[in-house]
Amino acid sequence: MEKIYNYIDGNLVAPDSGKYLDNYNPSNGNVYSLIPDSNENDINNAVSAAKEAFKIWSKTTKQYRSDVLMKLADKLEESADDLIIAESLDNGKPESLARAVDIPRASENFRFFATAILHFSSEVHDMDGRALNYTLREPVGVAACISPWNLPLYLLTWKIAPALAAGNTVVAKPSEITPMTAFLLSKICIEAGLPKGVLNIIHGLGSSIGDCLTTHIDTPIVSFTGGTITGQHIAKVTAPMFKKISLELGGKNPNIVFADANFDKAVDMAVKAGFSNQGQICLCGSRLFIEESIYSKFKESLLLKVSKLIVGDPKDNDSNLGAVVSENHMDNILSRIEDAKKIGGRVLIGGNRKYLSGDLAKGYYIEPTVIEGLSYDCSINQEEIFGPVLTIIPFNNEEHLIMMANSTKYGLSASIFTENISKGHRVAAAIKSGVVWINTWLLRDLRIPFGGMKQSGVGREGGFKSLEFFTESKNVCLKI
Ligand code: NDP
Repeated sequence: MEKIYNYIDGNLVAPDSGKYLDNYNPSNGNVYSLIPDSNENDINNAVSAAKEAFKIWSKTTKQYRSDVLMKLADKLEESADDLIIAESLDNGKPESLARAVDIPRASENFRFFATAILHFSSEVHDMDGRALNYTLREPVGVAACISPWNLPLYLLTWKIAPALAAGNTVVAKPSEITPMTAFLLSKICIEAGLPKGVLNIIHGLGSSIGDCLTTHIDTPIVSFTGGTITGQHIAKVTAPMFKKISLELGGKNPNIVFADANFDKAVDMAVKAGFSNQGQICLCGSRLFIEESIYSKFKESLLLKVSKLIVGDPKDNDSNLGAVVSENHMDNILSRIEDAKKIGGRVLIGGNRKYLSGDLAKGYYIEPTVIEGLSYDCSINQEEIFGPVLTIIPFNNEEHLIMMANSTKYGLSASIFTENISKGHRVAAAIKSGVVWINTWLLRDLRIPFGGMKQSGVGREGGFKSLEFFTESKNVCLKI
């Protein structure tokens, strides 16, 4: 069976413990590869390698780092077919989605930050000719980059690329649930001639190696994307060390449809926002608020569209949804649907595990599910489910709608559908979230400040915000 290795100091190495964890293929429930069960020694080795490499990498020119990252992007593109297959196999997502979104975005992340660093500048504050302050932006050191399983390579490279471009070296920990494309990335780095130790990737359980990485004395900066509870833990353990931290956490995002919206577009987007990647995107619009005057008509069109979604073999181009990421996660989503029923939720469509035939009979598939009849403040509408489950809620008053939309502890993103420009801007201003879309969903410009309010995160990444985060500012005052 294929073994995955850690990537330390430019080499693929077995874990110090000699132990491995099973890696499951969610589409059929079988173990198909083995993941290093790493420990503190592996983290220490990776951090030492990164610390040593930092001495040289941090002194290289921006143009040199840009060229190296461009080369990595080229190599990722050359390997796109393998990466697409691997991402789908590891995560359960349709290959068509990995082809359209995940893998192109991974190489785009490298290209984007390879060029952004060439345009990154800092401020000068002139004291009326008496003195000049100029700000230097220096790389911080070894960056700990921790990413989740839902968009494995996409989110891993979203951290690695700006960290390296800014002159840091990196120890990355991908989710142990989806390690394969990170492993392929290590091989690509070796082929591309990335200098040793600049990037190190350690696989294993967050519960065994997470703290060791985030609280390591030689990782002064931590960038984390994942669940709010893990984020809270990382904030707590790193706080006494005054590390720079960036936390991109969970969301329970409202998708708001006013009666004057472009109806067909809003229905299409509601389905996309609810069920893309089996509902496992932090930005998914899992709470759909529909203005009462169009509620029945909208619901009917929505259900018709959802009924046409195909849950099937991730390899099949016709499949709209593949498998959810793990058996545990599947059981958790199904139990949340049961909870919804117990508190009065009416399942309008879906609600069950879906059994495919043949080799895929043991795969982790769930029917796309729409539920109505739940109050806005019940646990189902307040807590992230992170699966193909959409709740629909009518509204007839803008003020009440805004209160409901803002009622969760999260504040990651929101979508508003209306043809009334003033209303769109007004509601966008009132929504407490880091990202608001009007008449669209998940339209991403990599230059924007991306991140969440409230318990959806701390800090912003994206564009120059990422480069600011991955650098330390130093002001120099020159008396004239
Ligand atoms: P988790 O928080 O469970 O895990 C995220 C990563 O953290 C994994 O690599 C995990 O490793 C690791 N980890 C676990 N414990 C620790 C620890 N003590 N110290 C350091 N690292 C640790 O999230 P999921 O992987 O389940 O991802 C889903 C969540 O991510 C959802 O809540 C989703 O909303 C959020 N997310 C947020 C995004 C955003 O941009 N705001 C984007 C995408 C997802 P292991 O897997 O081994 O446990």
